[in-house]
Amino acid sequence: MPNQDLTTTQLNQLIDLLKHQKKQLQKQLENTRADSQPVTLDQQSVGRVSRIDAIQQQQMAIANREQNKNLLIAINKSLSRFDNDEYGFCLECGEAVGFKRLQVQPHTDFCLACQSVMENS
Ligand SMILES: [Zn+2]
Repeated sequence: MPNQDLTTTQLNQLIDLLKHQKKQLQKQLENTRADSQPVTLDQQSVGRVSRIDAIQQQQMAIANREQNKNLLIAINKSLSRFDNDEYGFCLECGEAVGFKRLQVQPHTDFCLACQSVMENS
């Protein structure tokens, strides 16, 4: 069942947004691959502080990549729901999510009401 609450123009806008985000994420994941490799620092050439710095930076890079990977999975799920005409509905209550919310978070699975219930529980 196609989403009655979204016009074709709006749907096209959202799918463009998702595809754009997907491309950017893939590029970002590609670019940061080296950053999350284990730190191999010569202890004689770098001080202890910069070694800790490097480890912290690496941990941030790993967390960042993890976030991007999860986002990419969510985007891919949304894109496949487009193909099934199921995009734009809350997975929890089945209501239409609404264009404004989708514009901000085109990969979202839930409407605002369900999302806030989940975050508060
Ligand atoms: Zn809902």
